[in-house]
Amino acid sequence: MMDIRTVGVIGAGQMGAGIAQVAAQAGYDVILSDIDLARAEKGLAGIAKLLARSVEKEKIGQADADAALARITPVGEIAPLANAQLVIEAATEREEIKRAIFGNVGKLLAADAILASNTSSIPITRLAQAAPDAGRFVGVHFFNPVPVMAPIEVIRGLATTPETVAAIEAFATRLGKTVVHAFDAPGFIVNRILMPMLNEAVFALGEGVGGVVDIDTGIKLGLNHPMGPLTLMDFIGLDTCLEICKVLQDTTGDPKFRPAPLLVKYVEAGWYGRKVGKGFYDYSGTEPVPTR
Ligand code: NAD
Repeated sequence: MMDIRTVGVIGAGQMGAGIAQVAAQAGYDVILSDIDLARAEKGLAGIAKLLARSVEKEKIGQADADAALARITPVGEIAPLANAQLVIEAATEREEIKRAIFGNVGKLLAADAILASNTSSIPITRLAQAAPDAGRFVGVHFFNPVPVMAPIEVIRGLATTPETVAAIEAFATRLGKTVVHAFDAPGFIVNRILMPMLNEAVFALGEGVGGVVDIDTGIKLGLNHPMGPLTLMDFIGLDTCLEICKVLQDTTGDPKFRPAPLLVKYVEAGWYGRKVGKGFYDYSGTEPVPTR
């Protein structure tokens, strides 16, 4: 089986940074890339903060945190990814962006390197068409926040080889994650089931069935969830949720996945959630305040 030593991560946003962190903590060398160096460095600064917090809480030692951070190299171009045996794409959830990335990175990857996508919803078999080798292309769907959440959905496209899946399983195991195998169907397992619920919460909000806090409290306590659906959407990113709903709607043709008009409105307003400081809640103060 292919020996993965260096992992390339494309996109240093909330998911890419999380993936880079867990890979570095598991001992891999990591190249963290984004469209410019400043964004990659911002991702690294976020990782440094999280590692420092883990040291404060005595979950990890200072030496381990320092070593993990030293293993991550932020870059603003893709050329250094030529040194990676595994490249995980975690860029914005838009198919044309991902296709362009695979085209560019594909030209410089080693002949046996694996290319993986952390897409939440775009079919892996379709994305594989933009990759240099569909056999070495696979979906690795991490959960947010990556350092905390246990599962990784591994999605095999029609052409993904068993060797590629085995290499990803070994990688996931070294990260301490639990592998869930999903068929390459829209939304895979978790988002297929989760997104209609989140979207329905926004329909309910838009129709005035309940306010932000009532909807969140009702679901949190009534269904024994760790947080309400609108809080969760603020964590995921409303732009990402909207893109997932659109992909589910387009790929299945089923109107049950149509995005709630209010979700579209929040995204048009740029209220993407925690990553911009405002979504269904405003995060500028000490406590989140509902925006509706
Ligand atoms: P994000 O907006 O936090 O980060 C996306 C990053 O990609 C940004 O830093 C952006 O600059 C970068 N980017 C955009 N175009 C690029 C390019 N051409 N080359 C390199 N970098 C580029 O988004 P996120 O929440 O981290 O989501 C990233 C991916 O992970 C998406 O495919 C999303 O569906 C998936 N995902 C998200 C979640 C979640 O809960 N947010 C969970 C699982 C999977």
